[in-house]
Amino acid sequence: MPAQPKPKLNLRILLLIFVVLSAVATLANSFWVMFKIRKQELIENALEVNKAYAARIAASVEQVLRSDLDKLKYGSAVIGKTFDDKHSLAAETQRLFGQDASFNAVLIADAAGTIIASAPEDLGLNGRTLQHKAPLRLRTPIISNAFESMAGNLVVFISHPVFDVKGEYLGLIGGSVRLEQRNTLQALIDTNVRKDGAHLYLIDSARRVLYHNQPEQIGDIVGQGAIVDAALSQETGTLQAPDEQGVEMLAGFAKVPSSGWGVISQQPIENIQTILRQTMVKVAQGIAPLALFGIVLIWWLGARISAPLSRLADCAKRLDTPDSYERISAVPARYFESWQIRRALLLGATLLQEKIGKLNQQAQTDALTGLANRRAMQEILARWQDANKAFAVVSMDIDHFKRVNDTFGHGVGDQTLRTIAALMQQNSRSNDLACRVGGEEFVLLLPNSSLQTAAEVAERLRASIAAADIDTVGHITVSLGVALWSPGGDPISAVLERADQLLYQAKQDGRNRVVVEQALIARLNADAGDARPENAHDCA
Ligand code: GH3
Ligand code: MG
Ligand code: MG
Repeated sequence: MPAQPKPKLNLRILLLIFVVLSAVATLANSFWVMFKIRKQELIENALEVNKAYAARIAASVEQVLRSDLDKLKYGSAVIGKTFDDKHSLAAETQRLFGQDASFNAVLIADAAGTIIASAPEDLGLNGRTLQHKAPLRLRTPIISNAFESMAGNLVVFISHPVFDVKGEYLGLIGGSVRLEQRNTLQALIDTNVRKDGAHLYLIDSARRVLYHNQPEQIGDIVGQGAIVDAALSQETGTLQAPDEQGVEMLAGFAKVPSSGWGVISQQPIENIQTILRQTMVKVAQGIAPLALFGIVLIWWLGARISAPLSRLADCAKRLDTPDSYERISAVPARYFESWQIRRALLLGATLLQEKIGKLNQQAQTDALTGLANRRAMQEILARWQDANKAFAVVSMDIDHFKRVNDTFGHGVGDQTLRTIAALMQQNSRSNDLACRVGGEEFVLLLPNSSLQTAAEVAERLRASIAAADIDTVGHITVSLGVALWSPGGDPISAVLERADQLLYQAKQDGRNRVVVEQALIARLNADAGDARPENAHDCA
């Protein structure tokens, strides 16, 4: 299997990344959809508002123009009967001029276009010829496009033909409306000014601006443009298109039927975008706390979900420690995967511990006899020393074992060693420890035992070995030395050595016997007094 590098990411971080990414993606998506829908709504709304606004103004302009035409129509009926009477013509122009602020000049022209009466008189129009001959030719009520009057003003001329009682064409009566001046139409537009940055303007069919909520634009000719084209060619409608300057506009337009003029209400799309940006900022501010709370909540849940796996991963790093089973058991497994992994780890830990136990046992067990070996003995002794546990040591060596080997062969020798080991175990308590520390040398450790008890055990062992009828070999004997270690006394190694010396002494004394240190001391004392007892091997 190729070695894989250790991953830097853990489940908790992966979950956090996942949570944050999905939250951001969801929010961004909702934001984008909301943005698109809101933008479309605002655009449609702006277009409709502009259309409605243009239509309302167009209707009002139409009304004003109709009313002006009606006034002239009445005037034409009046003067049709008295067209020869200069005074009554002058009186009629005066009456119409003074009636209201509709016209800034009123005139009557004959069929040839010569002005025969006018008001106010100071304009000096009488005797002059009409600039525009179309009304004379068409002989219908006409509302002109804007043009520069004889007095040099930008005007619109509204006229009505005059017929006599027999229907003979006599001329026309007309009024001019001066565009730069404040008048009924201008007042009408001004009172309807909107505060949302929309521009409203009125153009004639020659694209000249008749009214504008920015008065300096009045009289200008607007260039080619989709919005102006639409306003002059269609009745009412909406259009999103760039204006002359290339600025994208949302426009509504309407036509004034009697004059063929167009009313346009428009605003830059940028206005909408500003509103949109403000809205989205508010939405973001509204969503942010909840989104943050959501992320924290999911993060917390993620941490709870990942916690058992993290803990199990941590346990998996140290499966070989003795407490690994307990540590793995303590991890709460709240869902199937963690439960399953925990189970697998527990199994793994158990197997590993068993294996380690077996290895330890192998390392500490003598392969031939199954007794503890020297290494195990030393470990146990170190532990007992740490725990201040007193113990007795019985050191044992088989007598003339070489002969057994020589006589019956090594195999029988080994079998004999096994028999001796079994007898050792039979003659010791459960917490005593029988060890094979050399070829045919053994040690029996007796914790919390007095020298007296240890001597008794040694003697019993000696006797039972001596009495045993060993396969092939028959009877053999052993020699034993017994010493005691107590806390605060000699080092352990010294006690072991002493036990060996006592064993050596037993060999010296003729084998098949036990020598206990107190007995030895007693005998040494007796030797000093030159009173050597007959039988000193005895432990009593
Ligand atoms: P003594 O009474 O003085 O102890 O005489 P002895 O013959 O037993 O002498 P010693 O203790 O020196 O004997 C050691 C002999 O033990 C040497 C060897 O042949 C035998 N021996 C040591 N280890 C083993 C073993 O693992 N298997 C067998 N079969 N014999 C062993
Ligand atoms: Mg020996
Ligand atoms: Mg021996």
